[in-house]
Amino acid sequence: QVKKRPDERLGFFDAAMSFAVSERMTLERSLRDALKVGQFELFYQPQVKLKEMRLVGAEALIRWRHPELGIIGPDKFIPVAEQTGLIVEMGRWVLESACAELRSWDKQELPPLRLGVNISGRQFHEADLADTVAGVIADSGINPRQLDLELTESMLMADGESTLRLLRQLADLGVSLSIDDFGTGYSSLAYLKRFPVNTVKIDRAFVRDLDHDEDGRVIANAIISLAHSLSLSTIAEGVETESQAALLARHGCDEIQGYLIGRPVPAADFVAFARSFNGTTAIAGKS
Ligand code: C2E
Ligand code: MG
Ligand code: MG
Ligand code: MG
Repeated sequence: QVKKRPDERLGFFDAAMSFAVSERMTLERSLRDALKVGQFELFYQPQVKLKEMRLVGAEALIRWRHPELGIIGPDKFIPVAEQTGLIVEMGRWVLESACAELRSWDKQELPPLRLGVNISGRQFHEADLADTVAGVIADSGINPRQLDLELTESMLMADGESTLRLLRQLADLGVSLSIDDFGTGYSSLAYLKRFPVNTVKIDRAFVRDLDHDEDGRVIANAIISLAHSLSLSTIAEGVETESQAALLARHGCDEIQGYLIGRPVPAADFVAFARSFNGTTAIAGKS
């Protein structure tokens, strides 16, 4: 999964590599400490139903609030967390925090929203993911229908039977399942029909192409049609312009997520956003 850096292809005793290793070990230690002292935080990005321009959900996106370096995005540390296995503990923290936030929205009397949580490959292949999710749901007391787990195509490709069993266990808990970054992985498409998934998240790459070329429109349209013909709903990711939103609406895309509606923001800012959102306002938050 994680791309090899060019320097990692050199011999074991190569200085560049031992540097990369020690750098990674330092980062790993910092990540462990950060988890312990509570430096991770979830940001929330709104998802809007295109037909009514109604706020229907959000995606939880992890950030590291580093005391010296400021806010660090997941691309900087998720790969190392994944490599070292720390992602399992971190992923559990994400699930717990996301569910706690759902509870808090309920107490603050927001309309019920669906909250998407990203699941990493390693987390998905841990033996007890379904137990973990079941436990977190029970402890938090949330309605499982409000929780959406975002999986990727590559997770669903491997080992058919046990994957199917796990997905059924998760679906039986009442949570919904989405395919994140759809169209960028090694899709066989067969799994869409076979597995109990609910939603396809159209990758930003296809949305970006919408404005530019006919091919982009053809692909987005094909994904939406395919999803709908299998009774799956669609969310377009990375929607930045009005014209992208208009094209997606014309193609029947169900929901959009992107800077056009709002950037990922801290929990308190998201609550304020949710209260004031009326379909025409958009917030400029910090990512
Ligand atoms: P993702 O799940 O596909 O999340 C969407 C990413 O697109 C987010 O980046 C979001 O900030 C960004 N984005 C949203 N709208 C726009 C837009 O209009 N334009 C542009 N240019 N970007 C937009 P972010 O937050 O940096 O997260 C990157 C990836 O890190 C995520 O991609 C996800 O794969 C991973 N990730 C984030 N949080 C978690 C987590 O809690 N657990 C795990 N395992 N992975 C996470
Ligand atoms: Mg995601
Ligand atoms: Mg995505
Ligand atoms: Mg992604």
